[in-house]
Parts: sequence; C-alpha cells; structure tokens
Amino acid sequence: MTNDVQQMTGKRAYPPRKSEFTQVFWDGVAQGRFRTTKCGKCERTSFPPKPICPHCWSDQVSWTDLSGHGVLYSATTVHAGPAAFAADLPYRVGIVDLDEGMRVATRILDDTKLDEPVELVALAYEDGPLYGARRAPADK
Ligand SMILES: [Zn+2]
Repeated sequence: MTNDVQQMTGKRAYPPRKSEFTQVFWDGVAQGRFRTTKCGKCERTSFPPKPICPHCWSDQVSWTDLSGHGVLYSATTVHAGPAAFAADLPYRVGIVDLDEGMRVATRILDDTKLDEPVELVALAYEDGPLYGARRAPADK
C-alpha cells in the first residue's frame, strides 16, 4: 500500500539522521510507503522501526507495511519554535494513533480535529523525504 507523496519546495529544515538500518524506512517514505519493524518472536510491532524488539529484546525483526491511517490523538500549534523551523512558524505537530496500534509523533498538515481520521503523507523535499499527517478523505 502506498500513500500520497506531496511535492514540497526547498530543503528540510532539520533532516533526520539516517543509518544503514533506517535507510530502508526512508527509502519507503520517499515512495509513499510507510513501514516499521515486526518481531518474529513475540509478533509485536513498534514505531519507530528498531533493529531490536523493545518488547522482548529479540533481534529477529523484519519489515512490515503500515496502512498510514489512524486517528489524531493530540495536537498543538507551535508559535515559537527552534530557530531551524522559524520559516515554518506557526505549524502544528501532533500524535497519531495508527490503525495498527502504534503512536506516531508527526507534523499535522491541516486543521484536523482530535479523534478525526487522518492519513500519513510523504513530503518530498528537494533534499529528501519527511512525512506528516492530514485529514483522511471520507471514502477511505
Ligand atoms: Zn519481540
């Protein structure tokens, strides 16, 4: 399953650090595909993706697709943020409860209200991907 990829102008204000492990996640996001890790021992998923299961400490983890759909659990508007994000002020951030049972902290791209359905969307900046959440279309 892939989600929308929204073209953005400019570069990311504070690009995420990448490792050989997280490169898989970010390569997926660039294509609108959200993935995380699932433990082969206890079967639980976690987000962000981790090479070691945080529930049982097994290293038998593999990648699994996420729907990118959930509900907005919490949100706030940032009016006075870090200098790196000054050009984006004001902006919303929040926590999304994904349908798969994990919470994701992310930028909120619109005025979605709490408890409303949201979808993750890939943000294609000139120097790489980020992601955010917006109100889910009513037909999904
Ligand atoms: Zn586990």
